[in-house]
Order: sequence, then C-alpha cells, then structure tokens
Amino acid sequence: MTQESMPLSHIGWDSFNRLPVTEKAPYLAGSDGRVFHVLLAQQFNRAALDSLGGLATRIRRTAKTEEGMTFLRGLMANKRAMLYFTQPSSRTFLSFSSACQILGVNVGEVRDTATSSEFKGESQEDSLRTFSSYFDMIVMRTQVGGLAEHTAWVLSNTERPIPIINAGSGKDQHPTQALLDIYTLQRSFEARGGIDGKTIVFVGDLARGRTVRSLAWLLTNYTGVRMIFVAPEPLQIGRDILNLLDAAGVTYELASDFETTIPEADAIYMTRIQDEWDTTEGESRKIDTSRYHFRPEYLDRLGPHAVILHPFPRRQEIPTAIDHDPRAVYWRQMRNGMWIRAALMALIFKKERLIDGYYASVR
Ligand code: ASP
Repeated sequence: MTQESMPLSHIGWDSFNRLPVTEKAPYLAGSDGRVFHVLLAQQFNRAALDSLGGLATRIRRTAKTEEGMTFLRGLMANKRAMLYFTQPSSRTFLSFSSACQILGVNVGEVRDTATSSEFKGESQEDSLRTFSSYFDMIVMRTQVGGLAEHTAWVLSNTERPIPIINAGSGKDQHPTQALLDIYTLQRSFEARGGIDGKTIVFVGDLARGRTVRSLAWLLTNYTGVRMIFVAPEPLQIGRDILNLLDAAGVTYELASDFETTIPEADAIYMTRIQDEWDTTEGESRKIDTSRYHFRPEYLDRLGPHAVILHPFPRRQEIPTAIDHDPRAVYWRQMRNGMWIRAALMALIFKKERLIDGYYASVR
C-alpha cells in the first residue's frame, strides 16, 4: 500500500479541494508512501484491498484465543483515538470502538456537539485541533461532506498532523464501509474465484447513499465486474460516479425493474431510503419505493451462491423473514467491519509485521 506521496501541507486548501477525487490520494499518504489518512475510496488499489483483507483475517483468527487477544491488546496500548461522531451511528461507531479495544487503543468520544465546546461557539476547526493535542488519530463522522478532508489539511499545517479516518462524510463518501463490504465479498466469493467477473446489483437510494458511491469505486479495482444500479428514477446513482466508472472502463447498467435483475446477481447490495437528506418535507414519501424491497419470494429467483448485503440500518427493504437464509450475509458483514477497521488502524500505525510474525509463530 505504498505510493508516491506529496505532503498535504504543501498545497493550499482550495487547490487540494478542487483536485479531481482520483488525484487526491498522493496527498493523503505518509511521507514513506504508506497509508496515513483514510478519507476516500479512491486511495485503495487492488493490492491494498488484498493485503488489508488478508490482515483482517489474520487479526480475526488471532483474536480467537486468549493468548492471541492478549498479544493484540498490547499492540497499540500507547495510542489514543478520538471518535468524533456528530452524526448518528451504531455500527460504525461500535465497530471502531471494538476494533480499538481489540488493539488496546484507548478511546475518547464526542457524539454530540451540545456536550463539547462547539456549543460555546468554538469553531469546528479549533475543536478538531484540540483533539489532536490529546489523541493519536481522529475517526470522524459528520454531516458535512469534505470536513474530514479539511481537518486533515488543517492538521497537516500544525505540529500534530495525526491521521484522520473518515467514518462517513455527508452524502459523498464512506470509505471504511466500502472496505468492509469488499472484505465481505472477498470472503463470500473465496471459493468462487474472488470478486473478479462478478455481477453486483445495487438497489434503493443510490443518489444519496454514500456507501454505494464508495463501494462502486472500489469495485473498479477488479477485472470483469459488472454493476447494475436499480433505483426509481429520482434516486438513481449520480452522474459524477458514472463518469468515474466510465473513465475506469467498467461495465454498468441502470435499471428500474429490480425483479428481473435478481437471477443475474452474484451479490445484491440493498440500501434504505436516505430521507434525512430530503430538501422538501415528505419528498421521499412521494416516491414509490416498494418495488425496491427484497420480497421473501425473490429468494427462489436468487442464484444458490449469490449473497445479499446491506450496510444497515434497514427499514422495510429487507424483511426479517429472509434473515435465516444462508445467502443473507448482512449480519456477518457488520462483524467484518470490526476486523477490517482493526486491520486499517494496525496498518496506519505499522503493526502488520508484528501481527504477521505472531500469526506465523502460532500456526
Ligand atoms: N450506515 C450507513 C451510512 O452511514 C448506511 C445508511 O445509513 O443507510 O451511510
């Protein structure tokens, strides 16, 4: 996961902000070219995804024994992480805090600006800079698209330029969710030649779902992947993502009839309606989304090895009646989030050699 790096402190905010998303990665790497900030799906190539998945698996297996857990807990006992989650979160927050516990990282948290000095009028910039005085990394989820990038840039011009991990920013990106989705697909297709050549069907609110936007990009790293985006017209995926897919030479289709795409799918990625982004009262309710629910009878149309994913939270788009089907992998997907986030933090703090050494010594 090394690449040519360019210091973020050497570029002005406006120039960095204006760069195409595919050209930002070199500024987010450390001076040694390794992963440092994790802000965009566009930072990850195929080699990085393969090695991250491998590391997550070694951590997962190591954590199965008491001795292994003791080893892992000692790895980052001198590190502290600030979890700054000012937008609602269950899984991302809990999986990051669990991943921190696994690696022995001490955690501080802000989940509501009403309980921090932002309430007293402190700027977000000063608040985030304050965290960098006490912590060794900031994991942040905010309503504001691009704030994680801006924070990384601000801190790069201070004496404590600590890593920033984007745990969901506005409607634009959710890179660590996409990493756990890829890890889930890697594991699901392990015995079927991996992700290459598979058909992934995305369903639901693709216009405002940041997980879809990040995952669609990560899938461009695989050969022969076909993506089908199924949504009612107003919620279809954004042109900006399609332009990126065009530039990457990926095959995709836009569809509005969910049922007919089911037999073609190796994986179905369901999403909920993101009505928190409505700009007018009740806007989402005016759209008939019932045709984008996975009905129990659809299980008969789904291939025997296909899998159903969902970033959660779910609403009506997946009834609990299908949870028992072995192809419904969303509960496992959620747990994968903890392992991939542990692997990511271990990588940022250069612990993978120690993990690999321990892993080899006990096998
Ligand atoms: N939990 C995911 C997110 O934060 C998906 C969702 O909220 O629908 O984007």
